Amino acid sequence: MTANTTPVINFRRGGTAAEEAEKEASSGYGRREAKFLSLRGDGEKAVVRLLTDHDDWIYVLQHSFIPTKPAPQGAEHWPKAMMSVCRKDEVFAGHYTDCYLCDNKVKNSFGNSGSPYVRLWALAIEREVVYGDGTEALGGPAHKDLIVGIRDKIDEIDELDAEGKPTGVKFRYPRVLIINQPMKGFFSNLKALYGLHNTICDRDYEITRDGTGKETNYRMAAIDPVADVAPGTPHWEQYQTALAEREINLDVIVAERATDAYYAKWFDPAKDVDKDGNVVPAGQARPVGATSMIDLSGTNAPAGAGTVADISPDLRSRIASLGVPAAPPAS
Ligand SMILES: [Zn+2]
Repeated sequence: MTANTTPVINFRRGGTAAEEAEKEASSGYGRREAKFLSLRGDGEKAVVRLLTDHDDWIYVLQHSFIPTKPAPQGAEHWPKAMMSVCRKDEVFAGHYTDCYLCDNKVKNSFGNSGSPYVRLWALAIEREVVYGDGTEALGGPAHKDLIVGIRDKIDEIDELDAEGKPTGVKFRYPRVLIINQPMKGFFSNLKALYGLHNTICDRDYEITRDGTGKETNYRMAAIDPVADVAPGTPHWEQYQTALAEREINLDVIVAERATDAYYAKWFDPAKDVDKDGNVVPAGQARPVGATSMIDLSGTNAPAGAGTVADISPDLRSRIASLGVPAAPPAS
């Protein structure tokens, strides 16, 4: 380029995309956390690879859209409503003798009965479809606007030192999504696909939200299987390694939402959680910060390699690295 030419800048456009970008830039969530699959608007979509197959879906009784108690002093981002797992679900086998929400017939945010209903849980990896843009890097003009591959979305997570400050090293993991949805309109559609293929883990699905409110349905469109991501492959093993290193465990995620501490933190005004995580009578705990320190002493995570079908390994590797920041310097 010479000094006299005007640079051609392709700004990214669109309010929704900008909102997403802002969210991603400021997310800064910890290694052990995973996002929930959240498609809020009619027509919104996501591409996922289910990690939890049909037989392993967890189902529990849940209270949904329950108003939270007032935010403690200094708390940021205090949600207006939360869900919880009902402590009277038979899975707990009487471990809990009470459920604050059932016992007090607490109404949901819409003023309706907050009675618990069955909801299901599964884990997935968020994926994204890569389209050819006409450049040689993406298959040339012949592949313009066509799907040339699917790759994992990547989370970059700061390594923290002993004081909780970022060291500059970033861990890169495939993005894990928690799916928590009802049978009707969501998992029933996946179940139908399971009936077809005997598994739902062997291919990616594009999930599209149809409608809002009670009549919401989620359409599941199967994307042709990518052979080298299926269970039993090294890529699948990378997913399992990422879950292990991030200590993301679906059983724990569900169980945490029925604990004394969870109910004390979000719902029961007579109780508080102190800075050590103990449940204490209200008014006796100093406010606690929203986040805890995370010990990141592990080694670098496997980079989430992209995968594509029917194109050369070379192009495949170039697609895999597109848009993915360079590996962090060794510490
Ligand atoms: Zn309950």
